[in-house]
Amino acid sequence: MTSPPETTLTFYEDFYRTELEVWVDALTLSERFGPCLVLSETLCHPHGGGQKGDRAVLALDGEVGKRLGLEKMAIVDTRREGERIVHVLDGAADTAALEEALVGTRPFLLRLDWKFRHHQMRLHSAAHLLHCFVEKIVGESAGGPPLEFPETSDLQPEFGLNRYARKELLDAARMERVVAELNAFSAEGHSIATRADPETEGFRYWECAGWVIPCGGTHPRNTAEIGPVEATLSLKRGKTGMTFRVPAG
Ligand SMILES: [Zn+2]
Repeated sequence: MTSPPETTLTFYEDFYRTELEVWVDALTLSERFGPCLVLSETLCHPHGGGQKGDRAVLALDGEVGKRLGLEKMAIVDTRREGERIVHVLDGAADTAALEEALVGTRPFLLRLDWKFRHHQMRLHSAAHLLHCFVEKIVGESAGGPPLEFPETSDLQPEFGLNRYARKELLDAARMERVVAELNAFSAEGHSIATRADPETEGFRYWECAGWVIPCGGTHPRNTAEIGPVEATLSLKRGKTGMTFRVPAG
């Protein structure tokens, strides 16, 4: 069997696009994730770079839907598996029937779970801005030592965590200042850009107000979309952790 062509990452053209006609190139049975779809192109950002894999539905048209007894298929996660991007299906499925009905038969409408994605986009830019303002208040900009990127910068569905391999990088009062300055800055409505590195394929950057952070994730266009960030500090085992949230969309 020949492997299907690589999935086109259409979300990089427009992070706000929520619907796309796609072809199903393959149905795979992953040991780790169960039945998965490989699509010709996708709006779903795969799990990675701290960001959770996108969720979506694949709308099934009348004839295919009737044959399968389904109006849509839920995609509950998007992952990289080896070289491929796999769209993880919800639960058990008759894979032979799905393969026959879906693979290469016609285009289907992929609808992104925008509420989930937009929240991840806002959390993700909050993670970067949090780092920028910690640097501003305790890093080189404030006459302190240079601040390395967090060793962990991870998003969950509801919150994010930046953790630095530094003991007591800052205290509660400084943390409060970080959050206050971050929120005042965000409310001013600064543009956020993401761009590909022209020299290194697959390498991308996040940019805002002169700050540049290597990142392949998805982000809003403007800081005003993020909303007021809340963050709590934890100083444990020689590390400085910051758990942060943005308002529900
Ligand atoms: Zn990012």
